[in-house]
Amino acid sequence: MFEKISSGIREFLDRFGRRGLLTKRDIEDGLEFFKKILISSDVNIKVAKEILRRVKKEAEKEKSLKSLLPQEQMTKILYDELIRVLGKTYPLKISSIPPTEIILFGIQGSGKTTTSGKLALYLQKKGYRVLLVPLDLKRPGAIDQLREISEKVESKFFFEENENVYSLIKKAKSFSKKNGIDFIIYDTPGRLHIDKEMMQELKDIKDEIKPKESLLVASSLLGQGSVDIALEFKRKVGLTGIIATKVDGDSKGGAILSMKFVTGVPIKFIGTGEKMEDFSEFDPESFARRIMGLGDIKGLIKKIERVKEEEREKITLKKRERFDLNLFLSQMETIEKMGGFSSLISHIPGIPTGFNVDEKEIKRMKAIVQSMTKQERRHPEIIDGSRKRRIALGSGTSVNDVNKLLKNFKMMKQMMGNKNLNKMMRRGGLL
Ligand code: GDP
Ligand code: MG
Repeated sequence: MFEKISSGIREFLDRFGRRGLLTKRDIEDGLEFFKKILISSDVNIKVAKEILRRVKKEAEKEKSLKSLLPQEQMTKILYDELIRVLGKTYPLKISSIPPTEIILFGIQGSGKTTTSGKLALYLQKKGYRVLLVPLDLKRPGAIDQLREISEKVESKFFFEENENVYSLIKKAKSFSKKNGIDFIIYDTPGRLHIDKEMMQELKDIKDEIKPKESLLVASSLLGQGSVDIALEFKRKVGLTGIIATKVDGDSKGGAILSMKFVTGVPIKFIGTGEKMEDFSEFDPESFARRIMGLGDIKGLIKKIERVKEEEREKITLKKRERFDLNLFLSQMETIEKMGGFSSLISHIPGIPTGFNVDEKEIKRMKAIVQSMTKQERRHPEIIDGSRKRRIALGSGTSVNDVNKLLKNFKMMKQMMGNKNLNKMMRRGGLL
């Protein structure tokens, strides 16, 4: 399953493993290689371009961190971008008043009839009562095929001879109400190729049913062909989701990767074999992990977060060294705008209480700092008794006020080593 794209991605990531740092050159060479992988895996060109553009941008933003391998950084970036194009999981919608009606579309051979049975089994395992209704009335054998499948999965089956599609739909609806059916699944006719007449017929059927879900059953073996089909169905008939079948075959994965991004319609389920049990909800995260050959990504994500946090701490410490009265003053102003300090820090362990500023205080502090020389602002430790007297005089305050400010400054500088406070201040834009 997805062997080609998977081994390509592994090779791409391996390129970053051996070197010490993530360099621009490595990124460019790597992406050139990666582009070929995506294209040969039948990824839609628009999607391939988007993935490459975003990976490049994110990788260049990424700083080389000594404690992370470039491969680890690239793995996380690629994983995030794959998830971005794949979207999240999109559960089946359920009508508030049963039955929930689901219509399955698709060209002939895509796996509609088989998937009707699979979906019925999936829903029954959740405790729902499911009715299968064949609407492919012209093709001999189609009705019997669905009947046999419904017997296999032990679902209800509704069909009456000599009815047209529309009267059959009406009867199926009223049968469902009477029999406490939770879900009706309609299997529709599909030709080998899309044609105008078929699309109109399907649209008419859909308008009659007004289903909660209109799902396209699309073979992932068709690659970009299935993406084109999905676009057509979306435009002409309207879709709420896609079921990608034959994912077990030598599907290259490109169709699955492209579907949501190109059509805007999410993949809701995948078919992974001929048996009724070979069916599951589509999970972008596990798909991304699979094609990236990752058993687990959580450990890596945690590690990266930890390393980045440590990096931020280092930067904070550097800032602490540079912390002077100019910075202190601008910080006090921000804190005042945020509505005071004591409420902000009251719940942070390790921070002394009684540290607060109000508007009047800020004005006074400003005057004091403005009466200092450049050198005093940068190196407050040189401010001795006579300097204090000069500053107090110049700012119209007292030596006591100057002392208080210097004490607060010292306290603040001390606190800048506090991890929790740093986090909070970063969040508040103070650092
Ligand atoms: P329909 O014409 O769209 O109704 O397609 P069918 O349901 O009759 O399926 C066509 C063929 O595809 C059958 O041989 C199915 O067993 C096979 N098929 C359907 N889904 C899958 C799948 O997920 N994996 C595999 N390997 N075969 C499938
Ligand atoms: Mg069929």
